[in-house]
Amino acid sequence: MDSFFVEGARVWLRHKEQLLPSTVSSCDDLCLVLGTEYGKVVHLQREDLSRETVFLMHPSSIHGVEDMSTLAELHEAAIMYNLFTRYQKNNIYTNIGSILAAVNPYKQIAGLYDSTAVDLYSKHQMGELPPHIFAVANECYRCLWKRHDSQCVLISGESGAGKTESTKLLLKFLSVMSQNSAGTPPSERTTRVEQAIVQSSPIMEAFGNAKTVYNNNSSRFGKFIQLHFSQSGHIQGGCIIDYLLEKNRVVRQNPGERNYHIFYALLAGADRDHRDMYLLSEDPELYYYLSQSGCVHDSSLDDKQLFNSVMEALKVMEFTEEEIRDVFKLLSAVLQMGNIEFMTAGGAQITSKGVVSNVSELLGLDSFQLSEVLTQRSMILRGEEICSPLTVEQAVDSRDSVAMALYSQCFSWIIMRINQKIKGRDNFKSIGILDIFGFENFEVNRFEQFNINYANEKLQEYFNKHIFSLEQLEYNREGIQWEAIDWMDNAECLDLIEKKLGMLALINEESRFPKGTDYTLLEKLHSRHAANPYYVKPRVTDHQFGIKHYAGEVLYDVRGILEKNRDTFRDDILFILKDSRLDFIYDLFERVGSRSGDETLKMGTARRKPTVSSQFRDSLHSLMATLSASNPFFVRCIKPNMDKKANQFDPDIVLNQLKYSGMLETVKIRKAGFPVRRTFKDFYSRYKMLLKNKTRSDDEKQRCSEIFLLLDNDKKEWKLGKTKSGVTVIPKQPPVA
Ligand code: ADP
Ligand code: MG
Repeated sequence: MDSFFVEGARVWLRHKEQLLPSTVSSCDDLCLVLGTEYGKVVHLQREDLSRETVFLMHPSSIHGVEDMSTLAELHEAAIMYNLFTRYQKNNIYTNIGSILAAVNPYKQIAGLYDSTAVDLYSKHQMGELPPHIFAVANECYRCLWKRHDSQCVLISGESGAGKTESTKLLLKFLSVMSQNSAGTPPSERTTRVEQAIVQSSPIMEAFGNAKTVYNNNSSRFGKFIQLHFSQSGHIQGGCIIDYLLEKNRVVRQNPGERNYHIFYALLAGADRDHRDMYLLSEDPELYYYLSQSGCVHDSSLDDKQLFNSVMEALKVMEFTEEEIRDVFKLLSAVLQMGNIEFMTAGGAQITSKGVVSNVSELLGLDSFQLSEVLTQRSMILRGEEICSPLTVEQAVDSRDSVAMALYSQCFSWIIMRINQKIKGRDNFKSIGILDIFGFENFEVNRFEQFNINYANEKLQEYFNKHIFSLEQLEYNREGIQWEAIDWMDNAECLDLIEKKLGMLALINEESRFPKGTDYTLLEKLHSRHAANPYYVKPRVTDHQFGIKHYAGEVLYDVRGILEKNRDTFRDDILFILKDSRLDFIYDLFERVGSRSGDETLKMGTARRKPTVSSQFRDSLHSLMATLSASNPFFVRCIKPNMDKKANQFDPDIVLNQLKYSGMLETVKIRKAGFPVRRTFKDFYSRYKMLLKNKTRSDDEKQRCSEIFLLLDNDKKEWKLGKTKSGVTVIPKQPPVA
């Protein structure tokens, strides 16, 4: 009766390489009928049924556990099923060893984050209460003193998985801790800094977030927020570093997506006087940069209310009225810029003169000069100015490049102003929170995905090192010898990207080479790296190269990479912007010049501005240096479905993320060693019945050894440490007390 199951029994069904959690509906001599927990019904004929295809589920998998490492069954299906059963009960948080997995509920769960919860978690140690983002925040805070080092929380996950919400929850918890900290009461300055840090979120979101198909409030930039604490536990300062704002979105969006929230908020929220001042209409449909995607509204987004909360936040952050006006004028100029149209008449000619004069007024520019620079290019060659007319396409590009530059400089300026406001002493320890785009693999992957995936590769390296070394530490502590386990090391892949003569170096070299094109780059990449096992040279297409990332193979489209990497802004355009009558515009672009390290920039001189990827590489390296000096916590956010819906768990979607996120890797690492570790006391009390009262020893360790010898006399599958025993292989139905 090996394969006879009682009705209602919980089993695993092996189906197409996957294990599906299932319940037995009926079982007789001919047929077994199962209902999988994810909603399928499967009929199995008895002759197809071997013990391999269906086997009993361990009780820990049936009931669900708060910490995955206490699951007796350590495979991806069990991990996923555990997330699923917990998610159904609104338990969205689960520990995986030292990692916190968070499944986005797409709904408000009553009481989950209220002040009672904050209070509760602040008074308990990690592990005493169910897993929670507040438990991580609390532990992080306590560790500042316990461990005497700085802490960091690395939040990862796909777009829409809940990273930014998690970041805000961490900030909320930490700011309450700071306020309630014992010791000296918070100074007025501390309170101001806390408030400013919390209020920086709506501003950053308004300017850096947009509706995408994946997330109605998608952050289009990465950020690292550092909070500096004082010895007495108060936040005394902070610092925000932003990464790679998606500039293209200002001028182009995919169908159904939107531009940055702030544009719609401004149109919806500004009163008549202000609209007159900014030369704005209130209808977003009138602006090409907003209307082209076919989506200007979303029922989940209240643009007017956003405007009010941004205004409120800007006031808290002490932006002056003049500064706010300058920013809004710039935004209006960007919008109108998109409405400048061209026609061909011996080169591009502007057909919408009125719009150009509005833009010029808003930016403090000379209208004639602006028209000139948008329709022709001037260069100094051997001391002489040479003008060449642009085609309509080139003119549109130059128009868009001005709009993108204006917006991205404005964004950097806002972050800079926020940083001025939250700057404070950093003479004790800090907590850093990293909210950065997860691994991406789209139909078409471009330069942006290349950078994002490179960043994820770096973070994975950090994750590996940390998880691996933690594991090593535990073995050392227990005095257990173990063979070096084969974890997925991504060092070689990173070498391919960033080492000397690696892909980044080639991209940068080609970007500096005046005659370099995307195709010469591709040729060089192919010829230099084709033999590298992590490099992919596709056989069919002629415009792609690929990388075997830790999370899977990604093909990148080479077209447009050089231009995006160079990110050059025509010097003649830069000059007229620097000629602005408005200090604000002048200041924004003054910094562009100084970034090249050449204050006395002359028209026509080649600017030695660092390329986008080299800047990004430098900022990543400096981030890694900060992280390496900190004790990390990992939060892995998981999206349960692609429809942004509550109460819907799509196993395929989740499995994919589990694979990308390295959680399975973590499990593998544990599995390769001795994944199930129990203290002697715990182990003995659980399995003592196996000894049938035959033990001769009083010593807990000795008794455990006796139990193990009963099961595996060869001592291959288990080891005894100093305080714990470990087992490698878990029987399908382990003895359960
Ligand atoms: P990401 O930053 O990873 O792209 P977000 O943090 O912006 O994702 O989350 C996307 C959306 O999911 C949010 O706007 C919110 O509606 C919902 N969401 C995320 N986390 C939670 C949570 N803990 N509770 C309720 N809703 C959430
Ligand atoms: Mg986000």
